Amino acid sequence: TAAHITAMEASNVLNAFITKTPEIAVEAATASDARRAKGEAGLMDGIPIAMKDLFCTEGVLTTAASHILDGFTPKYESTVSGNLWAEGAVMLGKANLDEFAMGSSNETSFYGNVINPWRRTGDDHAMVPGGSSGGSASSVASFSAMAATGTDTGGSIRQPASFAGIVGMKPTYGRCSRWGIVAFASSLDQAGPMTRSVRDSAIMLQAMAGFDPKDSTSVDMPVPDFQAALSGDIRGLRIGIPKEYQLDGMKPEIQALWDQGIDWMKAAGADIIDISLPNTKYALPAYYIIAPAEASSNLARYDGVRFGLRVEGEDLNDMYASTRAEGFGDEVKRRLLIGTYALSAGYYDAYYLKAQKVRTRIADDFKQAFQDVDAILTPTAPSAAFGFGEKSDDPLAMYLNDVFTVPGSLAGLPGISVPAGLSADGLPLGLQVLAKPFDEETLFKVAGVLE
Ligand code: GLN
Repeated sequence: TAAHITAMEASNVLNAFITKTPEIAVEAATASDARRAKGEAGLMDGIPIAMKDLFCTEGVLTTAASHILDGFTPKYESTVSGNLWAEGAVMLGKANLDEFAMGSSNETSFYGNVINPWRRTGDDHAMVPGGSSGGSASSVASFSAMAATGTDTGGSIRQPASFAGIVGMKPTYGRCSRWGIVAFASSLDQAGPMTRSVRDSAIMLQAMAGFDPKDSTSVDMPVPDFQAALSGDIRGLRIGIPKEYQLDGMKPEIQALWDQGIDWMKAAGADIIDISLPNTKYALPAYYIIAPAEASSNLARYDGVRFGLRVEGEDLNDMYASTRAEGFGDEVKRRLLIGTYALSAGYYDAYYLKAQKVRTRIADDFKQAFQDVDAILTPTAPSAAFGFGEKSDDPLAMYLNDVFTVPGSLAGLPGISVPAGLSADGLPLGLQVLAKPFDEETLFKVAGVLE
């Protein structure tokens, strides 16, 4: 823990943390030493981790990287963070993120950009860490934290893991409790581990997962022994390659990475099967209706009365308006405008309802495909990390980053990104594995072969 606190301080320039909690870490590490001496160590005992600042932590500032949550210190602990502490994990601090987890580059945080520790060969230009779990990714990639929590609504664990050369895993929707996590889009949000290896990912998910009566969408199913699944033996497993993910104009280095992954699977004895997910092209448009619609409802609670920031106005309505005008950043406002529009009378059927129908079709595509295959292999993102400002003025270009991660999110599937190669200019690239709902064991087993 002491070494990680030093590394965290030495990496200040990355801006990976919004709040650092070294005193809490030292205290937790001391308690962990005592447990270990008695042979009572938990699954994560003494492991220093970064907690994405979207998880409510009792008595510790929780910001969601938004100005509107100024000074908000929860009186309760999220279920997932509580599970981790119960297994002995040690909190180094609260990791930076895109405001309310909306973004793919960690450029929308009120607390400033997070920097990716990786550089292109031959230049010193800082790259984005991906988003929204950019601080989590950067802290693990820079060896400040041994692991971190992330949340993934449309790719926010997997895409930053790909950009930062680490393993990022989104569990099946319902595997981990959402209780106490600041909500973005409730039908999509899932917490998951961001780690250096697939084994660490399996151990950490074990600690995080489980039924929680406080979250009605968490599923009452036993949590399997994920580590036991890491046999390394994928002989005879059927791996699907979806043709719709072969985008026009795909970068040759991404195609080459994917081909490499297919070769590794074949060499390990898996059967490669071409599959079709015909509604893939509708996934991004559907996601960018559904996620903002749910966000507009979830974020209605930030009104200057109940949490954080209040900007006084002439009357109550003016106070609401001034608080929200000052408290939310541009990307959040864009989402709230799109979301309330899509939900308003007269437009609901044309946008929100339509998007929900598309979502069902996408889930059906996967259901169909999983009759023939055990897992699906794709690239995680259409490119390596990009530079600051390259996409931040063009929301559509930014949203395109999520093209490979969003379909699995809409279907609630488990997905993992594993570092699998380098771009021509030396930046990490990840491959994504998707599996059937609640089949994280197959997911980990297949992912292990890519390491
Ligand atoms: N980039 C996506 C978005 O901005 C996904 C974010 C997430 O998964 N939290 O909505």
